[in-house]
Amino acid sequence: PPQPPPSPTSKAVDGTMQVHPLGLKGPTFNIMDVIDDIKEKGLQFPCIVRFLDILRARVILLNEAFLSAISSLNYGGTYRGVYPIKVNQMKEVVDEIVDAGRPFHYGLEAGSKGELTVVLGYNTDPEAITCCNGYKDEEYLRLALLGRKLGRKVVVIVEKLTELPHILRIASEMSVEPYLGLRCKLTSRGSGKWESSGGDFAKFGLTLPELMRAVEVLKERGMERCAKLIHFHVGSQLTELRVVKEAVMEGARIYAKLRKMGLGIEYFDIGGGLGVDYIGTRSGEDGSSMNYDVHEYAYDVVYTLMRICVEEDVPQPHVVSESGRAITAHHALVIVNIFGTITVGSPEEIAAVSTPTDNEHRVVQEMRNIVGSYTSRSKTAKSWQDAQAKKDEALQMFKLGLLSLEDRAKVEGLYWAVARKMMPYTKSRSRKLRIPKEAIDIADKMADQYMANFSIFQSVVDHWGIDQTFPIIPLHRLCEEPSRDSILVDITCDSDGKVDNFVEDYGTDKTISLHTLRPGEDYYIGIFLTGAYQDIMGNLHNMFGRLNEVHIYIGEWEKNFQLLLLVASIADTPDDDDPEDYYIEEVIRGDRVADVLGRLFYNPQDLVRRMKESLTSNIRSGSLKPKEGVALGEFYDSMINSYTYLKAIIYESKNRIRD
Ligand code: PLP
Repeated sequence: PPQPPPSPTSKAVDGTMQVHPLGLKGPTFNIMDVIDDIKEKGLQFPCIVRFLDILRARVILLNEAFLSAISSLNYGGTYRGVYPIKVNQMKEVVDEIVDAGRPFHYGLEAGSKGELTVVLGYNTDPEAITCCNGYKDEEYLRLALLGRKLGRKVVVIVEKLTELPHILRIASEMSVEPYLGLRCKLTSRGSGKWESSGGDFAKFGLTLPELMRAVEVLKERGMERCAKLIHFHVGSQLTELRVVKEAVMEGARIYAKLRKMGLGIEYFDIGGGLGVDYIGTRSGEDGSSMNYDVHEYAYDVVYTLMRICVEEDVPQPHVVSESGRAITAHHALVIVNIFGTITVGSPEEIAAVSTPTDNEHRVVQEMRNIVGSYTSRSKTAKSWQDAQAKKDEALQMFKLGLLSLEDRAKVEGLYWAVARKMMPYTKSRSRKLRIPKEAIDIADKMADQYMANFSIFQSVVDHWGIDQTFPIIPLHRLCEEPSRDSILVDITCDSDGKVDNFVEDYGTDKTISLHTLRPGEDYYIGIFLTGAYQDIMGNLHNMFGRLNEVHIYIGEWEKNFQLLLLVASIADTPDDDDPEDYYIEEVIRGDRVADVLGRLFYNPQDLVRRMKESLTSNIRSGSLKPKEGVALGEFYDSMINSYTYLKAIIYESKNRIRD
């Protein structure tokens, strides 16, 4: 609820975001303390904060969910999950997951030669599975079979039939018995953004006729026992549990028939797809939500598989899942500083045209009448049409030389005045009823643009690419009612560089309510759930590189908790500044300009040399003083070694910023 503005001395109503890594009753710390630590370490924003305990907790949660479903159902197999490292290959992330998964024989999945080199180095547990997905060449296959030479459970998953003879040939050359996985193209498939991962026209997997041919090939060579695993993946972010169950049903029947044909399949791999509720509605209707939780997922998979195995009278296989998103999404938070706003039709702009002057043109007077007569919501449609028509008329007259620039500016200012008057009626969902769509659209477009120091293409690429919604929240001032309807614009020179889809009102909205910036004060917002795919797929658009990072652990790890999640609440007690609650284990510096230059094959030294040559020739010609030239050269040099993002820009007041 709205609170009175905080008194400057009272931290109790500070409204800063608290982190409760062990749930609301466990230890807690203040995200603003983390921000202070980041500043003290001389790191600039934007900055990723990784809560490594959360990764650990997600691994435990998933494994325990399957193990508890298996034990409560008396299921005949066990669970052997794998983490697909493509979802986040960062060393610290993989380290943490492997360590947390050790008691569960949790394995890894690779989709390329590069990933396989990592996975072979990290997955040394002979009981844990290594899944090799993706298209494979001879080298990939030799690398995978090297794992078999070491006695590990490295399963080469056959994605297309033509791979099979090569795998068998190379295995025989290397004198090793391969572990084969057969990936099936199921007819069941997910819906939404990743729909095309499944179904008859999917990129990977064997059709049923191909599967039959694979069985023949194995039988011809007496290698039926090498087929150890059956695999399918019907898409990421499965929003409905119904789809999961249908896929398991279809896959389980195929498994049963293959077993009856004599294949020695021991593992049933349901792929990835376990969702993340990015918008918190648990609805499953929006691609950013889902209608089930991890326990329900595990239970339904095991139950459905068991039922079909019993019906078909075949052994109950070990269950493998390849969840990536649900393991890594929660652990990463991108903290971004806001350094200014852009407001269309600002109160100042409107105030400047609100008083009539002598000899105003007729169109200006008529526009004034439209503003004056807009007194209630019921007049929205009519007033909006009139205002638009008047604005168009003013433009035509201006083009014909019949309207002065001053009068046209007044018409525009008054047009924004009409739009601003309408805005309260377009804000809440219930009020939007009977408001014309164009009026709602213009109100959304008139949202303030908060200038945020980050690149959407580096930090939340899925928002740009596939309209994925991420929770975005101010990290402080949470006891003050946010009054500015806003969108976020990033610092790339790209009109697509904006976030205009937010979690609001138990769903999504095109705008987010943010606080008015205070002169001389930083304003931080957090972009949550960015640990899956975003970290890895981000690109160098505009040469904005990788972000600074800090890795955080809570003081003490408690083994017995069920669910470790980052839970945001509003601080209602004074901050006790307890340094035991968390510690920064590691700092990873983000890219400097020189790092990004190097990646694009520029030589930073060569650029410095070129700049020095230009400065020298300017000094020689007398257009630069030597001292000034040297200082400029040093400045250029320091820029090559600086962070790629904007440096400590603090909002001061309207249109002014300070470094
Ligand atoms: N396994 C395979 C074969 C995949 O293609 C993917 C990603 O789409 C995954 C696992 C990971 O899926 P998710 O991140 O939805 O768990």
